[in-house]
Amino acid sequence: MTLDVLLAEATARLTQTGSATPRLDAEVLLCHVIGRDRTWLYTWGDRDVERWQRARFAALVAARAQGEPVAYLIGVREFWGLALMTSPDTLIPRPDTETLVEAALAHASTPSGTLLDLGTGTGAIALAFASERPNWHVVGVDVRPEAVTLAKRNAQALRISNVCFERSDWFSAFVSQVNTPTFDIIVSNPPYIAADDPHLKLGDVRFEPRSALVAGSEGMADLLHLVASARQFLAVSGWLMLEHGHTQASGVRAALSQAGYNNVESLRDLAGHERVTLGCSNKP
Ligand code: GLN
Repeated sequence: MTLDVLLAEATARLTQTGSATPRLDAEVLLCHVIGRDRTWLYTWGDRDVERWQRARFAALVAARAQGEPVAYLIGVREFWGLALMTSPDTLIPRPDTETLVEAALAHASTPSGTLLDLGTGTGAIALAFASERPNWHVVGVDVRPEAVTLAKRNAQALRISNVCFERSDWFSAFVSQVNTPTFDIIVSNPPYIAADDPHLKLGDVRFEPRSALVAGSEGMADLLHLVASARQFLAVSGWLMLEHGHTQASGVRAALSQAGYNNVESLRDLAGHERVTLGCSNKP
């Protein structure tokens, strides 16, 4: 059986079972099994597939048909051009979040500085920023030790050395230190989905850690906590930047203004949704 035939069959199966991107899923899973990239697949689609490869591919397609995210099946997801290892202990990095990386880069106006990423997961935001600003020092924290381990492995694999990862429940790792560090930029993609949001019953999110997705009945609990607690960890004229759901921008803007932040604004993602809101601490 050729690669093309196998792909067509898998695409049909994944279409029936409700994947939004059946052809892409099938191609990515097949490339993973045969150890080639998609360009190779387009050129050599008439080649035969070995029996063991067929069996391995069939198992992956079956798991995908049950809804398992492709990123967990192949253990890797690209974000900001970086191949990041993923695991069910962390949220799968999403293109929407590149809006937050862009915002941080746009406000990293000094040659060097420090950035803190709260709830770093795979380390996606911290690593993307660190790769673009080698003279900045980046700290990524997560409450889950598994996430910290994974983020460290990603930094090592990508050879990004101006970043460190540690365990912290939001700011808990920093409060007990005598000389509390101050950060020029604090970013976070916290949980922001409401507990009863029907979106949680669809697609990849069903397999992702609840603790990385859900924040109270309105989805605002962690966003509001971060707005209320971040300021004491920010440098003079430091920036707090938060990703949120597209209906939460005005709520986050109001909270930032009320907490005394200046230059508060929201930025849109590629789909045109208000996705990130930021404010400047402007302390005297
Ligand atoms: N943007 C993600 C989603 O809607 C949620 C990410 C988050 O809660 N931080 O699936």
